[in-house]
Amino acid sequence: MKKHSLALLLLLTISINAFCQFADITQKVIADRKNSAEQQKKPYVILISADGFRYDFAKKYDAQNLLKLGSEGVSASSMIPSYPSVTFPNHYAIISGLYPSHSGLVNNTFYDPARNDKYAMGNKTKVTDGTWYGGSPLWVLAEQQKMLSASFYWVASESAIKGVRPTYYYNYNEQINIHDRIQAVVDWLKLPPAERPHLITLYFPQVDHAAHLNGPESPAVEKEVHFIDSAVNELQKAVKTTGVKDVNFIFLSDHGMTRVDNQNPIGIPAAIDTAKFVVSGDGILVELYAKDKKYIQETYDALKKEAKDYDVYLKTNVPAHLHYGTTDDWHNRIGDILLIPYAPKVFNLYNKKSINPGWHGYDPSVVKDMHATFYAWGPVFKKHLSIPAFENVSVFNLVSRILDIKHTEKIDGTNKLADKILIKKPANKK
Ligand SMILES: [Zn+2]
Repeated sequence: MKKHSLALLLLLTISINAFCQFADITQKVIADRKNSAEQQKKPYVILISADGFRYDFAKKYDAQNLLKLGSEGVSASSMIPSYPSVTFPNHYAIISGLYPSHSGLVNNTFYDPARNDKYAMGNKTKVTDGTWYGGSPLWVLAEQQKMLSASFYWVASESAIKGVRPTYYYNYNEQINIHDRIQAVVDWLKLPPAERPHLITLYFPQVDHAAHLNGPESPAVEKEVHFIDSAVNELQKAVKTTGVKDVNFIFLSDHGMTRVDNQNPIGIPAAIDTAKFVVSGDGILVELYAKDKKYIQETYDALKKEAKDYDVYLKTNVPAHLHYGTTDDWHNRIGDILLIPYAPKVFNLYNKKSINPGWHGYDPSVVKDMHATFYAWGPVFKKHLSIPAFENVSVFNLVSRILDIKHTEKIDGTNKLADKILIKKPANKK
């Protein structure tokens, strides 16, 4: 018996070790980086993303801490995600100030005809290959300007973009519990000023997972909203214990969530011939890439005749407000033909046995449920300020302004948000 227990324990230990090795829970540190003396005088920003945290979830589920922090600082009625309203393009839009079509991260999964290769959010090799990402994320600019950054996850933070990663980062996995993540933030803030990161990103996937599986109106989502709410409260308190002044918090999400008609999804349209087109996407956006341009018009015409529950667009006639047509396709990664279902319809091209009740990805100007959350508080922010909805690309400008990070490349974000919600510094004080 004892021998058995010992063998079992050994086996368990080996399995846990193997699993942890696979999950790679260790912090990565890029050696020999320091904040310059000038940068050490700058404030700190903790940028928190709670995936799928719809604009109304805090009120709907009574997230008391978030509501209190938001009402003491700045709260937006909602934040408008970029199209398509999905995770990877929007996290990257927030951190780069670029619409998905302009950053090149046009969807969670997409085809690049010039590379003849597919990017997919579940493919570690692609995700960690910095050549897929256009523009410059805030941490790249910060590091280039001798200001240190840290990431407890953010889309693209594991990749060297323009050869640069955050000074402190983790390879993505969901094994590290929330208390350890909060402790990591505390440890970063307790570092000496030369080594202390000024930009810290944090990411929570729980609400998105629960809302996909159970729908946005479900006890599971309510539970995860409360979990995030208490985590933010714990983080807030833990940061106070470090004694570091000038710490500013931004709590936001990438998109919302809506309940779809998952009982009657749209199958693959008869007009699609996979010998003529590469088919990418599913669910809320299907993109067709012609193997020969001569097939485009005839297939488009056939799809238009067949389409009932979805819109069909040529890349050349996509509505301008989506920034997802030919003129916006800076990286030539948008399909020649796009199929966009009307909410609450979704595609199920490959006849999956069951599909989730909760989805996002629709045009946020048509489906309000796609809207995201934005709260901000800390010494740089105005107090008790409510603002209307704004586009998420301007968060880039906001954080740039707070940390005085300079950028030279053209971006889509504007300074309006920063002008509106930051306390103006006295003219005689730089
Ligand atoms: Zn997401």
